Amino acid sequence: MASTVSRPIRAGISLAALRHNYRLAKQLAPAAKAWAVIKADAYGHGQWRVVTALRDEADGFALLECDNAVALREAGIAQPILLLEGIFSARDARAVAAHGIASVVHCLEQLDLLLGAAGDAPLSLFLKLNTGMNRLGFDAAGLRDALHRLRARPAVDLALMTHFAEADGPRGVDWQLERFQAMAGDWTGPVCLANSAAILRHPTTHADWVRPGIMLYGASPFADASADALGLQPAMRLDSAVIGVQHIAAGERVGYGGTFTAERAMRIGIVACGYADGYPRHAPTGTPIAVMGRCTRTLGRVSMDMLACDLSDIPDAGLGAPVTLWGKGAGGTLPADEVATAAGTIAYELFCAVAPRVPVAVDES
Ligand SMILES: *Cc1c(COP(=O)(O)O)cnc(C)c1O
Repeated sequence: MASTVSRPIRAGISLAALRHNYRLAKQLAPAAKAWAVIKADAYGHGQWRVVTALRDEADGFALLECDNAVALREAGIAQPILLLEGIFSARDARAVAAHGIASVVHCLEQLDLLLGAAGDAPLSLFLKLNTGMNRLGFDAAGLRDALHRLRARPAVDLALMTHFAEADGPRGVDWQLERFQAMAGDWTGPVCLANSAAILRHPTTHADWVRPGIMLYGASPFADASADALGLQPAMRLDSAVIGVQHIAAGERVGYGGTFTAERAMRIGIVACGYADGYPRHAPTGTPIAVMGRCTRTLGRVSMDMLACDLSDIPDAGLGAPVTLWGKGAGGTLPADEVATAAGTIAYELFCAVAPRVPVAVDES
C-alpha cells in the first residue's frame, strides 16, 4: 500500500508563486496600483493564505463580502480593501464607513443606501460604469445623477471603473474604452479598468488601479496563450495517488455508464480524486492527468471519489504512484488550463470548485 496514512488527495498552495505573479502584474502595469482580487476564497486558494503571502506588498485587496473585508481590517490589514459589488445593506454601509473600506457603487439605489447609512464618515467609492458588459454599472444618465448627488457630500474619494467583457478575445477593449471615455468626459480623477487579460494584453487600460485575479493564481485568462508563456507560475497543485490497479481485457468498459471501452488489453489506475473533491465530473475520457512525471489520460466517467486513468504506458506506476491532477505537483506538472479546456471549462472554475474535504498544504516557497 501507499505510505500515506490518510486518503492521498492534497492541494498545495505556493506562496512564492502568488508573490511572483503579483509582482508580474505590477511589472506589467508599473504606474498603477494593483488590487489583489481575493474573492471566492481567493479563487479557491484560501483568502487568508493569499493575504498572508501578499500582506507586505499588495497595494490593496478586492473581494465581495463586507464581513470578510471587516475581518481583514480586524486582522490588521491596513491597505485599501475594495468591495467589488459594493454594499448590500445599511449594515454594510455602516461597516464600510467605520472601517474605511472602499466600495464599488453600481446603481443609484446602492448609492442612496450608502449615503443614507454612512453618516459623514470619509468614503472611498469606485463608481462602476456599464460600458458593454451589461451586468452592473451606471449608464451615462445614471452617472450624471450619481455625481450630482455626491456633489453635496464632503469627504468622498471618487474613482471611476468599468469591467471588460472581452479583454481575452478578438474584440478586445477599445470599444469599451471609447464608451468609458465618452461617459467619463473631462474626468481627471483616478480610473480602474483592467482585469488580468487587460493587464497582460492591453497596456492602454492600465490607468491608476488594475485588478489582477486569475493571473495571481498562475492560470491564463487566454485560450490562446499558456500561463507558462505569459511568465506565470501555478499557485495551486492538486495531487493524489493511485489507489487501485486493474488489468482489463479488450472490450471491457470502465466506470459508471461504461462510457469508455478498451480496444486492447490495458492497465488502468484508479486515482483517489472525484467530483466530490472538486474534479469536474464532465471531464471526458482523454482529459490529461500526470502520473509519476508522465502525462496520460483519464478514462470513463469521473465518479464521486475516484477516477480512472490509463497506465498502459507507465508500467512502473503501481499502488501509491503519485498523481497530479493539475499544477506543479508530485505526479508531474500539468497546467490547470489544459485540464479545464479538456473538460470544457476554465481554470477559474476548477480552482473555485476544490472541495473543503481536500486537505491543503502551504508551501512557503
Ligand atoms: C473577478 C474580477 C476581476 C478579476 O478578473 P480576472 O479575470 O480573474 O483577472 C476584476 N474585476 C472585477 C470587477 C471582478 O469581479
